[in-house]
Amino acid sequence: MNAPASDPCDLPDDPSELLELAEERCLRASAPLEFSTFKLGVKGPKSWLELPEAEVRAWKKEFKRTLGGRLEALWEDREVDFRRPDLRLIFDIQRGRVQRKVTPLYLYGRYRKLSRDLPQTDARWKHEPCAGKGCEGCADTGRRYPVSLADLIGAPALERAEARDYALHGAGREDVDVRCLGEGRPFVLELSEPRRRTLDLEALAAEVAAGSEGRVEVEGLVRTRKETIGRIKEAGCDKRYRARCRVEGSLDSRRVGELSDALSGAELAQDTPGRVSHRRASVTRSRQVRELAVVEQGPGELVLEIEAESGTYIKELISGDEGRTRPSVSGLLGVPTRCVELDVLAIRFSDVEALTKAPKA
Ligand SMILES: [Zn+2]
Repeated sequence: MNAPASDPCDLPDDPSELLELAEERCLRASAPLEFSTFKLGVKGPKSWLELPEAEVRAWKKEFKRTLGGRLEALWEDREVDFRRPDLRLIFDIQRGRVQRKVTPLYLYGRYRKLSRDLPQTDARWKHEPCAGKGCEGCADTGRRYPVSLADLIGAPALERAEARDYALHGAGREDVDVRCLGEGRPFVLELSEPRRRTLDLEALAAEVAAGSEGRVEVEGLVRTRKETIGRIKEAGCDKRYRARCRVEGSLDSRRVGELSDALSGAELAQDTPGRVSHRRASVTRSRQVRELAVVEQGPGELVLEIEAESGTYIKELISGDEGRTRPSVSGLLGVPTRCVELDVLAIRFSDVEALTKAPKA
């Protein structure tokens, strides 16, 4: 194997010395990282472009193959993986440097949100008085909520993985004041540039519960692949809710008795809710209520259990949202009714089993 003749770099001309240098740089660049698979790349000097492309390609291929073989021999428990390497090492022949690209670590799990004062992520919630710039009122964070569910899961995971950053991708989201109970909501936590990839996931789950002071619980954590994010985002899941409703005025027991029959299986027409129409164009959606039952009734109060199609606005189904949702609980009861407490009881995510059995990333 000969280095291309026009190679202008001041690195060794002798191919075996060049290989030795590349090997030494790869070892140094990867030393702090845990990884079990890797892929090599070679970046050549620009002058190579004058050579026939096929010649350059063949030379690079041979260089990578030889270097990969040497590294595999040194790292007995690590191997080359072209499709999903944990680590990419790119040797720059001109500069004699190795650039490293660490594949993010993806953890799949389900979370329960047990607080009515916690956003899923902080992205949408700027502190209004300072428009997110930071002020005394928000301790210079620019945030309306000091912490999010993503932080309560992400921060301890980041520390364990010695990662640079985290992002939580949920299978949908609930409002800040809505709890998510039952089996919880599927999510993928993405940890960028992790130094550690083998985490004690049970210990992490225990740490999330303790660190969040009971506001968040996670279950079923497993390592997964990037593709899982798309799968949980695209899955439209029916959801089951429990809604505590305040009724203004006296309840007509006949109308209460008819509520379940009137709404179970009903097709709703829902215009974009008043509470979000300032940031979204108004459209009318059609959503089905699969089932609705009155489970408790007290003075001025009703508790409903509702199973509904993905994307149904539940608070609006109850209040009617000034006529923007038809039919509605309020409309059928003939008295103003609004949801004061909402819990997600179940997310019918049929793909969960398949995901947890997915091959390791
Ligand atoms: Zn502020």
